[in-house]
Amino acid sequence: MNTNAFRNLSYGVYIISTLDGERPTGCVANSAMQITSSPATIAVSVNHDNYTNSCIQKTGKFAVSILSEESDATLIGTFGFQSGKEVNKFDGVQALEKEGIPVIADACAYVVCKVIDKMETATHTVFLGEVIDADVLKKAEPMTYAYYHKVVKGKSPKNAPTYLPEEKEEKADDAKWVCSICGYVYDGETPFEELPEDFRCPICKQPKEKFVKQ
Ligand code: FE
Repeated sequence: MNTNAFRNLSYGVYIISTLDGERPTGCVANSAMQITSSPATIAVSVNHDNYTNSCIQKTGKFAVSILSEESDATLIGTFGFQSGKEVNKFDGVQALEKEGIPVIADACAYVVCKVIDKMETATHTVFLGEVIDADVLKKAEPMTYAYYHKVVKGKSPKNAPTYLPEEKEEKADDAKWVCSICGYVYDGETPFEELPEDFRCPICKQPKEKFVKQ
């Protein structure tokens, strides 16, 4: 089996959010799809290890915030590379409350669903949600996973359904400086060694020391 075939599937970049009691939480997902239009239903796939998964099981509701190419890339670091168990991922993030669920204000659109069914797989839960609210927030190109990979230079978090361990083994002609937290590959004009000490990863905001040469 050649898993590179999967790279030819198209995905978006979404933040799936819900509530942990009163507290908002969420995670990054790239597997969200519309299943039917009437009634409108959406399916999302969330890893069992994501804290958001257990919170959706409890609240029975989730929102999908669709990131655009103009959305702040650090949202992906905030929601994709740390756990909602330890931090409030919504701290400092502008959110709107829709049907009681927080959605990302910087997204280009959002969809809020109530869970009507779910399917367990070996690693992920597929939640089927009936749409109870949806709107467009900004006229902007939705971010595709390919755009995130090629332009933002980001990688999949380990819990993503699209995660391929081989991604880490991609060999380049020159050594590259890679963020050890989120996998972002530095490709600026300035040589990495000459970057100021206050340089931070544009995705997960970690300092220069977290970069490793590969
Ligand atoms: Fe990073």
